[in-house]
Amino acid sequence: MKSIYNFSAGPAILPAAVIQQAQEEMRDWRGAGMSVMEMSHRSKAFIAMAQQAEADIRDLMAIPDHYRVLFLQGGASTQFAAVPLNLFNATKNQADYYLTGAWSKKAIAEAKRYGQIHVVADTSAQKFTTLPAPGSVKVSPDAAYVHYTPNETIQGVEFHTIPDTGDVPLVADMSSNILSRPIDVSQFGIIYAGAQKNIGPAGLTLVIIRDDLIGKAAENVPAMLNYATHVKAGSMYNTPPTYAWYIAGLVFQWLKAQGGLPKMAEINQRKAAALYAAIDQSDFYHNPVEPTYRSWMNVPFTLTDDTLDAPFLQQASDHGLETLKGHRSIGGMRASIYNAMPEAGVQALIEFMSEFERTHG
Ligand SMILES: *Cc1c(COP(=O)(O)O)cnc(C)c1O
Repeated sequence: MKSIYNFSAGPAILPAAVIQQAQEEMRDWRGAGMSVMEMSHRSKAFIAMAQQAEADIRDLMAIPDHYRVLFLQGGASTQFAAVPLNLFNATKNQADYYLTGAWSKKAIAEAKRYGQIHVVADTSAQKFTTLPAPGSVKVSPDAAYVHYTPNETIQGVEFHTIPDTGDVPLVADMSSNILSRPIDVSQFGIIYAGAQKNIGPAGLTLVIIRDDLIGKAAENVPAMLNYATHVKAGSMYNTPPTYAWYIAGLVFQWLKAQGGLPKMAEINQRKAAALYAAIDQSDFYHNPVEPTYRSWMNVPFTLTDDTLDAPFLQQASDHGLETLKGHRSIGGMRASIYNAMPEAGVQALIEFMSEFERTHG
C-alpha cells in the first residue's frame, strides 16, 4: 500500500490503527456475522457500541452529568440554524456573535434569518489574522447566547483561552479543534462539531448541550432541528449515522489509549510549534497570523513567490505529502495537522519544505 501523509482540512486523516481495526471488523463485526453498516440501530450490538462511544467521549472531555451528548446528522452547517432555532423564543431573539473568519461568517449569515444578531467582535479589517484580546469583548446582557468559532479552519486562527460571557450561555463551533486538548466543558452552553476533522468520518455531527438549554424551541421548529427531540430519543429519533458513530467510537478509544486529551495537547502543541518555527525562520515561507492566535490544527502558509505554488504541491505529492493546497479563498498552502497526524508527518513536511527552499530559493 502507498504510504502518504494526508494534510486535508476535512474530511481528514484518521488514525491508521482505527482504519486497520475497521478493516478487520468490516465484514463480521465481532462475531455478529454482519458489518456495522448492515446492523439495525435498534439492535443490542449497535446500542451497546453507541453507548460505549458516548461513555468514552464523556470520559475524554470530562463532560459533566448535566450535559447531553447528541450524535446527529447535517454537519456543523445545520447547527448554524439549529442553535438560534432552539435558543431564541418569543421574548428573547437576540444573540452576540464573534466574526473571526470564514466559518463564523457563515454562522452569522444563517442566524440572521431567525433573530437580531450583534457582531460584538470583528477582525475582518485585519483579514482574520488576529483575534480579540481576552476580556476585550463586551457581551450584551439581553443576548440569548454568545457564539464563537474557537478554531477558524480556513484562516488558521485559534482562541487559546475561552471567552468569559458571565451568565450568557456560550456556544462554540468546535468542528476543527474538538478533542485536540482538554477544555472545561462547564464553561459552555453548547458545543457542536462536524465529525470529519477531528472525530471521525463525515456524516456525523456531535452536539454537547447543557440541560437547561433543551426544550426551549418554539412549536414550529422542525422536530429534526429540535434538540429536545434527539435528547428524548437518545439520538435515535430517526436512523442515526451508524457507521460514522461506530468509527468515532474507535477514535475515542484510540485517544484514550494515547493518553487522552492532555497527551494530545502536548503532541499537538509540539507539532504546531515545529511547523511554525520552520515557516518563521525562512523568508521563503510566510504565515500571516499573529503568533499568539495561531492554530494548532490548521497551518496556512504562502510562498513568497507564488509561481512556485504548483511545483511545490507537485513535488510535495511526489514525497507522499498530500492535500496541502490552501483553501480556494486564501490560496497558498494549508497543512491540517489534526490528532491523527503523527509527528513524523509534520517532520516529513518540514524536511521537504527545507529541501524545496534549498532547490528553489
Ligand atoms: C468544516 C467546518 C464547518 C462546516 O462543517 P460541515 O459539517 O461541512 O457543515 C463549520 N465550522 C467549522 C469551524 C469547520 O471547520
